[in-house]
Amino acid sequence: MDYDVIIIGGGPAGLTAAIYTARARLKTLLLESFSVPGQAVITDHLENYPGFPDGINGFELIEKFKKQAENFGAELKVGNVERIEKDKNGWLVEAEGKTYTSLSLIIASGARPRRLGVPGERELQRKGVSYCATCDGALYKDKEIALVGGGDTAIQEALFLTRFAKKVRVVHRRDRLRATKILQERALSNERIEFIWESKAVEILGKDRVSGVKIKNVKTGKETDVSCDGVFIFVGYSPNTDFIKRVLKLDKDGYIVSDSDMNTSKKGIFACGDCCKKLLRQVVTACGDGATAAFSAQKYVEDLKGAAYK
Ligand SMILES: Cc1cc2nc3c(=O)[nH]c(=O)nc-3n(C[C@H](O)[C@H](O)[C@H](O)COP(=O)(O)OP(=O)(O)OC[C@H]3O[C@@H](n4cnc5c(N)ncnc54)[C@H](O)[C@@H]3O)c2cc1C
Repeated sequence: MDYDVIIIGGGPAGLTAAIYTARARLKTLLLESFSVPGQAVITDHLENYPGFPDGINGFELIEKFKKQAENFGAELKVGNVERIEKDKNGWLVEAEGKTYTSLSLIIASGARPRRLGVPGERELQRKGVSYCATCDGALYKDKEIALVGGGDTAIQEALFLTRFAKKVRVVHRRDRLRATKILQERALSNERIEFIWESKAVEILGKDRVSGVKIKNVKTGKETDVSCDGVFIFVGYSPNTDFIKRVLKLDKDGYIVSDSDMNTSKKGIFACGDCCKKLLRQVVTACGDGATAAFSAQKYVEDLKGAAYK
């Protein structure tokens, strides 16, 4: 075997796992698709990661994680993992024409917010288009927000955003919400929330920053421009688990099913962070999962080698 552990994904979960496994003296390789990894890098200012009372830039935080992992001897490589297969005592990993073998694997491949796919969305990301209320809500104190979506997450986040914004306009395709009853009741009775029913967002408006959203009534086809300072989009998340779906048990939405020790349905494969079925997807929870997955992998490898401390 080339490695004791191969970690797939170089966001907060994977890099934390690498810090722990390398520090435990496991031969560690981390494979990441991009040279600038993780969802955290797309947020300018992380305000809720402990230890940084003035907040920290997402890119800067990830750079610190990388340095810490490398300091302990983890090998970080750019490579998109396409295939995983069982191999003797361990696993075979294929990434961009190269093959690696390892006794254990940690999957930390994250998730991505689903896009609307409308004009202006990509161009105005980080300029008023957001996919995370916990992260960016505080930037909209006394401002007006348009929010697209009608499920539990969308309504929960709309309620959260009323702590800051003076008006949250929820744009929803149907004439009623999909969210659970109690959330509906709270939202419908909240005077800061207004609903624009039977409508979808067809364009995000603005030049250097969001200035509004163009909506279209799905019944009449009539288009209207609604002005706002920010647009929050909650139309679901997609886990990055396509490459592993034939190997591991996933839930109906494609998230990896793991237990509290981050064991997956296959012995020797552990998972952590946003790619797992879980309640809260944040940097701090990804790091916690990463540490647990690393410790479980360490115990697994030491057991295989007969070196476990009993
Ligand atoms: C806009 C935005 C703002 C946010 N702001 C905050 C905030 O303020 N505070 C906070 O705590 N959280 C915030 N979050 C959430 C936070 O970024 C995530 O919860 C966290 O990054 C999850 O870490 P992760 O390591 O599990 O996954 P990710 O950060 O998604 O990292 C997974 C990595 O795996 C790589 N990968 C995927 N598939 C493969 C493959 N096949 N081969 C190799 N590599 C692969 C991806 O390229 C990616 O780099 C925000 C999220 C978004 C989208």
